Amino acid sequence: MDHFLYRDGVLQAEDVPLPEIARVVGTPAYVYSAATLLRHYRLFDDALAWGPHLVCYAVKAASNVALLKLLGDAGAGMDVVSEGEYRRARAAGVPGERIVFSGVGKTEGEMRHVLGNGIRQINLESEPEYRLLSRVASEMGVEVPVTVRVNPDVDAKTHEKIATGRKEDKFGIPIARARETYAEVAALPGLRVVGIDVHIGSQLIDLDPFRQAYRKVADLTESLRADGHSIERLDLGGGLGIPYARSNAAPPVPSEYGQVIRDEVGHLGCEIEIEPGRLIAGNAGILLASVTYVKQGEGRDFLILDAAMNDLIRPAMYGAHHDIVPLREPAPGAEPATYDVVGPVCESGDTFAKGRTMAAVGAGDVVAFRSAGAYGAVMSSEYNSRPMVPEVLVDGADWAVIRPRPTYDDMLRRETVPDWL
Ligand SMILES: *Cc1c(COP(=O)(O)O)cnc(C)c1O
Repeated sequence: MDHFLYRDGVLQAEDVPLPEIARVVGTPAYVYSAATLLRHYRLFDDALAWGPHLVCYAVKAASNVALLKLLGDAGAGMDVVSEGEYRRARAAGVPGERIVFSGVGKTEGEMRHVLGNGIRQINLESEPEYRLLSRVASEMGVEVPVTVRVNPDVDAKTHEKIATGRKEDKFGIPIARARETYAEVAALPGLRVVGIDVHIGSQLIDLDPFRQAYRKVADLTESLRADGHSIERLDLGGGLGIPYARSNAAPPVPSEYGQVIRDEVGHLGCEIEIEPGRLIAGNAGILLASVTYVKQGEGRDFLILDAAMNDLIRPAMYGAHHDIVPLREPAPGAEPATYDVVGPVCESGDTFAKGRTMAAVGAGDVVAFRSAGAYGAVMSSEYNSRPMVPEVLVDGADWAVIRPRPTYDDMLRRETVPDWL
């Protein structure tokens, strides 16, 4: 469910007509709905209400500080994967005690920064990493709560590029080696084992891989406790998928996911942490784009937009589908059209959809890519020297630009020509 609906024939974000934003801010532009974002966070929070828990929003899905502040003020924790994301969460007012640090390649500099500024827990992924963290924490005279990310060797049955829980993936420590790893970690100074971490992938549309992974985590909890470790938290990762096409069957909802967690690990008395990103932000954002041209090609029509792969890379990178709808609602019974929907970037990969049947539109019309809130603006770039796409937040009848579009001068000013040229 989201808050992007037609009213009187015009697509709105909550109570704001989107043509107004397109006119004032220009296109392309991302627009987020505060109500949708918060609603999704609360669905997860409610799904775990049966026990102690913290929903740690995966900052990488959509990391604008205004979005983080909305979620942080509502009580969310944050899952960060870099010092930059940590700094964003702190800038949004989220205390260190609610931030977990994940990722396979944390550097010494990043460790020093988060240890010096407060962190709830660090999720460890390899032996050289936990040896380094032990040294850094000891030098700084602190003891840091840690979990080890285990790789349960479960196939999440999702896109190749976002599966993370199979044994051939780069993430975590094979679950079969977990007991010896925990023994090593527990013996190192500066580290305090507090739990187990697992994250098997993104855009999962079936609960079964979660169930398999969490069952393995439950067994491991018992074994580690028998070995004398204090396992008081389980970080169960993110990954619940969203429906990108309205015509698709709906994936499981947070309440069903929460029930799987309860079934598999609820009896262990652990505090549950989860790290959802996509399901919180995905349907809370759209990308607005204007039609530049409709070009007749050989046996096909191209819808050429002013948005491109540098603004929304998911179709080019993952073959992802986004529904594309016009801001002016088509009249009932209006004939649809079929287009190859493309951007202006000089690569054939800059294609949003091939042979897409959608509302017929013309030059100057504005369209919205639905479900673009997650892994959208965060992956944008200035490729082809297209200024970074702006972001707008809507809350009820209010709206504000939360990342302005840089001017061409802003863009050029960041570069310098050495004086020996
Ligand atoms: C990407 C990621 C997430 C979030 O995944 P979603 O599919 O967006 O919910 C959570 N935890 C870790 C460790 C991740 O890498």
